[in-house]
Amino acid sequence: MEISQVISLQKKFFKTQQTKNIEFRTLQLEKLRDIIINNEELLFSAIYKDFGKSKFDTFTTEISFILNDIKYYLKNLKSLSKPKKVRTNFTNLFGKSRIYSEPLGNILVIGAWNYPYQLSLSPIIAAIAAGNCCILKPSEIAENTMHTMAKLINENFPPDYLYVYEGGIEETTQLLIHKFDKIFFTGSSHVGKIVYKAAAENLTPVTLELGGKSPTIITQHANLEVAARRIVWGKYLNAGQTCVAPDYLLVEESVQEKFLEILVKYIKEFDYQANSEHYTKIINHKNFLRLTTLIDKNKLIFGGNYDEEQLYIQPTVLSNINWNDEIMKEEIFGPLLPVISFANFNTTLDNILDKDKPLAAYLFSDNQDEKESFLDKISFGGGCINDVVMHLGNENLPFGGVGNSGMGSYHGKFGFETFSHQKSVLEKATWGEPKIKYPPYSEKKFNWIRKLF
Ligand code: NAD
Repeated sequence: MEISQVISLQKKFFKTQQTKNIEFRTLQLEKLRDIIINNEELLFSAIYKDFGKSKFDTFTTEISFILNDIKYYLKNLKSLSKPKKVRTNFTNLFGKSRIYSEPLGNILVIGAWNYPYQLSLSPIIAAIAAGNCCILKPSEIAENTMHTMAKLINENFPPDYLYVYEGGIEETTQLLIHKFDKIFFTGSSHVGKIVYKAAAENLTPVTLELGGKSPTIITQHANLEVAARRIVWGKYLNAGQTCVAPDYLLVEESVQEKFLEILVKYIKEFDYQANSEHYTKIINHKNFLRLTTLIDKNKLIFGGNYDEEQLYIQPTVLSNINWNDEIMKEEIFGPLLPVISFANFNTTLDNILDKDKPLAAYLFSDNQDEKESFLDKISFGGGCINDVVMHLGNENLPFGGVGNSGMGSYHGKFGFETFSHQKSVLEKATWGEPKIKYPPYSEKKFNWIRKLF
């Protein structure tokens, strides 16, 4: 079906008001949940074909995540949608003030490939919960997952309500010409700018979930065992192709040797072999080549091996890195971990401040002053103290970037708000009208007004 036809069908359907009904939204969420549960094997095999992602990782980082989102909205839909009473100010005495959450209307979600189900369906679930009609354009880079989502959704939902449009740059460019009520984009900062510009033509609001280099600091006050184990897990999950993965480490000089020893111990223990069904492949040759050229053999302390045919890159750690090395210029988005050592905690915070605001930042330390300085000084989308990545699993925390790492947020109630308009309404009584409000005005009225304010 022509995409312009789908868009006009969705605009027409939204105007019928059916999506505003809570019962309707509940049924759609339940239907999507059942489709996912009943087709789990299909979802597992598509993502395995795309980049060798295991069942275990797909379930823990994608399917369970989506099912949890649906569960959250099914439980909270009524309270999220209910008009909220707020206090009325003195000048509106004898009135009632309420905020109504209303759906924005026709939504476009553009997904990224690295967590193809979660990053496409999680915003769709929030948009459905908020009562919108949606078009999803998943990433063509993970083509099997894109086909699978298109098949499952387009065969089970009418196109005038929910539709998956398959395509790459050309199709997305065409799509962006149309007017939507909201565009929700996940991807690189480079493409984020293209989307933002296109949206501006139609004054369409956008949420941009972008990337960047997320720093991880390990100080002398850190529990080194815990830090190393959690960092290895978070960095090599999805072979480092995670937007909130620790991009680089900043390790205090006095503990560096000991810390790196433990880090390598855990990489070996977690057994990320080329033939392991639990270690993900690099998505394509373009990214494989980009990553392998970043491996400086002179700075290797672990790994550095790769296999082009299998698109395998061994978890790699590089030390003695400087801020102006090639690997520090762009987001790595792969299993390479550069380590910079530091002597002074505050100077290292200043170094982070010189860079773009990151999507995530992590601190491993049990020292209260260090925790406070880190939180006070560094602006970042979201992050953790004494852990990595896990903050995005808490639906009570908004997930999104700041500055170059994005704008807007979602998850839980924040996702609902992202796809809603907060309509403010003041309802006045038809009695109790102060004459002072109306002309003709006088010096006496002016003095009264002054006193009142
Ligand atoms: P990408 O920007 O290349 O692609 C994202 C989407 O944009 C895809 O659907 C693609 O088809 C479309 N696209 C690509 N080029 C386009 C163009 N010229 N015009 C219009 N549309 C275009 O990103 P990616 O490679 O899929 O994902 C990797 C990036 O996304 C990394 O920077 C990563 O950090 C970021 N990311 C961010 C989050 C987050 O939640 N903040 C999550 C995952 C990935």
